[in-house]
Amino acid sequence: MKSIIAERIKNMQPSATLAMAAKSRALAAEGIDMISLSLGEPDFDTPDFIKQAAKEALDAGYTKYTPVAGLLELREAIVEKFKRDNGLTYTTDQIIVSNGAKQSLYNILNSILNPGDEIILFAPYWVSYYEMIKLTGATLIILSAGVEEGYKPSAEALSAAITPKTKAILYSSPSNPTGAVLTKDELQAYVQVLREYPDILVISDEIYEYILFNPPHVSIAQLEGMQERTAVINGFSKGFAMTGWRLGYMAGPEWLVKACSKMQSQVTSGATSFGQKAAVTALQRGAKSTRYMVEEFEQRRKFMLDTLKTIPSVHCNQPEGAFYLFPDFSAYFGRSFNGQTVKDADDLTMYLLEEAHVALVSGSAFGEKRCIRFSYAASLETLKEAMRRIENALSRLT
Ligand code: PMP
Ligand code: GLU
Repeated sequence: MKSIIAERIKNMQPSATLAMAAKSRALAAEGIDMISLSLGEPDFDTPDFIKQAAKEALDAGYTKYTPVAGLLELREAIVEKFKRDNGLTYTTDQIIVSNGAKQSLYNILNSILNPGDEIILFAPYWVSYYEMIKLTGATLIILSAGVEEGYKPSAEALSAAITPKTKAILYSSPSNPTGAVLTKDELQAYVQVLREYPDILVISDEIYEYILFNPPHVSIAQLEGMQERTAVINGFSKGFAMTGWRLGYMAGPEWLVKACSKMQSQVTSGATSFGQKAAVTALQRGAKSTRYMVEEFEQRRKFMLDTLKTIPSVHCNQPEGAFYLFPDFSAYFGRSFNGQTVKDADDLTMYLLEEAHVALVSGSAFGEKRCIRFSYAASLETLKEAMRRIENALSRLT
């Protein structure tokens, strides 16, 4: 049969982060000694107390469909989490659990965006936001900030980007891919602008909340007048090293939760039953149960930043959260190796893949062509070897 793929899928890019990880695995399968710093996934295993809770849930018969929005017990634990960690009060009707934060985002974007609506996306952005928005037919308004601004757009820039068609703004803080964290003052400045536009929804992706080097974390929902117009996205993948469990959630206005539940009821139903039971246990123990991971990430960040500083002409911000670095390598564009010119971040990423055998992700996938993303969710030993190889390969460019 000939391919009958629909236009919207033809026009979609595969996830660059997952694609690069797959490429690196394929090269490793050919026997090449690859180091992959491409995927945003904690290298830690899920803590034992969480695994134990899932095993007990299976034995207790949690093997059936759950309510679409999630087990009441889990939604109650999420309500408690918001109270304890963020000082925010929600009802369980304002919470929906999904198959990963990815699905939470997809639900929201499809619930609010009509073709022709505008959504403001802070750039550098996480790869999947872009393609998910494209699928809705809405118009992307990209609000870029470079390394010199700490990758955080100003309130003035936000104000200038708003039009009568703006329906929402979307960002992650701590950010994937930059690790930048929006401070209370910066968020307050955005709120000042948004006060004039009460019908714009803020979608605040806080999935890296627990991977923060200088807590506390501030959510825009905590600022005056914002909770009822903010959708907070969070999940278990990063803070609890549970990427394979596929569990995320959203807290927001009830009308939005209802719309997301309607959509989810037709597409996937509730998230995995025994995973939800384990997630209750994870949330009850909270961030302190995975503090050891953050301490480890902090050491790695220091090593990576110290090393990057010694590489000529590379500019990097100081990330305050997540486990990414997003250095600007544009000074290397135009240099050559074996007669081949490295024109941009895509070329440089391929060069480092082929010559240094280190897999990274080009910044172009995140809306910033000057940069390359490093995920430092790998052991210090691996990072040291990766940086040694990268320094060596860069020095061979002329
Ligand atoms: N948001 C951001 C910013 C992410 O980096 C990721 C990465 N996986 C997600 C959402 C999706 O997470 P999940 O595994 O919960 O789908
Ligand atoms: N969010 C991670 C990343 O950016 C995991 C991969 C993905 O979900 O795209 O690498």
